[in-house]
Amino acid sequence: MTQDLSTLSQLCNVPTAPYAEAYVAAYIRWWAAEPQRRDKIFVQSDVVGNLHLLYQSGPPGHAELVLEAHLDPPGFLVENILPDGTLGAIFRGGVKPSCFDRASVQIWYPESHLTFPHDTAERPAGRWAPTRVLSVEPASGNNPLRVVLARPEGHAAGGTPPGSIGMWALPEALTIDRLFAARVCDDLAGVAVGLYVLDELIAQSAAVNVRLLLTRAEEVGFAGALAVASRGLIPATSSIIGIETSKALANAPQGRGPVIRVGDKSLTFSPALTRFLSMRAGGIADTDSAFLYQRQLMDGGTCDSTAFAAFGYDTAAVCLALGNYHNMAEPQMNAAIPTAGPHIATETIDLDDFFGLVRLLTDAAANFGSYTPDHAALRQRLAAMHERDQRQLLESFRVV
Ligand SMILES: [Zn+2]
Repeated sequence: MTQDLSTLSQLCNVPTAPYAEAYVAAYIRWWAAEPQRRDKIFVQSDVVGNLHLLYQSGPPGHAELVLEAHLDPPGFLVENILPDGTLGAIFRGGVKPSCFDRASVQIWYPESHLTFPHDTAERPAGRWAPTRVLSVEPASGNNPLRVVLARPEGHAAGGTPPGSIGMWALPEALTIDRLFAARVCDDLAGVAVGLYVLDELIAQSAAVNVRLLLTRAEEVGFAGALAVASRGLIPATSSIIGIETSKALANAPQGRGPVIRVGDKSLTFSPALTRFLSMRAGGIADTDSAFLYQRQLMDGGTCDSTAFAAFGYDTAAVCLALGNYHNMAEPQMNAAIPTAGPHIATETIDLDDFFGLVRLLTDAAANFGSYTPDHAALRQRLAAMHERDQRQLLESFRVV
């Protein structure tokens, strides 16, 4: 399996924010159009601009496995320009207002505009200009935060169009030993896992049907996923495995392998699909003692999988333990991790966790034909064990 970081790094450097995912969509279209993939992966966008990458090498009509990740991190969109040249911006996504204190931000100035979601671009043409937070208004109810940003350096008052993307002023992705640090890991690293899995399925000529569903605006409350689930944009019989990054926990730390996420803050997920993932992970670990995995409730947040499960889809989840969740700097973080103010830092994942998750999902996808969304196989095994080993003993050692 490749350990090439270029797709992961390129993807995690693309400008993106909730409702402003055009550049990531363009990158993914470019990726899928590369010669080694263009005959294997078909890209569709649905009515709201979610991307569906279809790998269909299995028998027609054979069950399709859906892998799912989201295209947006928390971020800024410029809303208006104030008379003094400062910018009024909206910030969507869960970041504590206190973290905005003295934080540096950058605004993306594109050289050309993309047609969403149809254009293709390996690297978005444009550049970042630095600015900083002047003030932040605490949100009321479900409203996003309102932020005032200084006039970006090098840009005249009035030179920043409404709708421009703002992100924390953090450098391009880098590695610190086995730690991958980027402006965004949530969930572009999850998207990258999906892309690497598709590459592995192509390399193995796997005879399966897999859909990689990449949703928009998760950070505002699962907007793209809810459009899919509520409008039935994928078949009701689909099994869905959500791929996320989720705040590392004391019992789910970084570097201990990918996490089979039995649930999030809101729900626990499909017992049968979760068990299928555990069985596949256990099978890999049996043949390779270096393969690590974890099975945990990751209740640091709610994810798209809850949206799909609530609408009746057979849904499971996996994740990578995330450092500096939503860029909120942790007190004990590695001193080499880049920051953009006293409380803002790059998000991090562990690269062995990343490639472990690619391996697990490739195995699960390649063997998805053996999955049944009920407990029939487990029930048969337990019933056989009961008949063979237990029944006679229960009956011969009566206590009354
Ligand atoms: Zn996420």
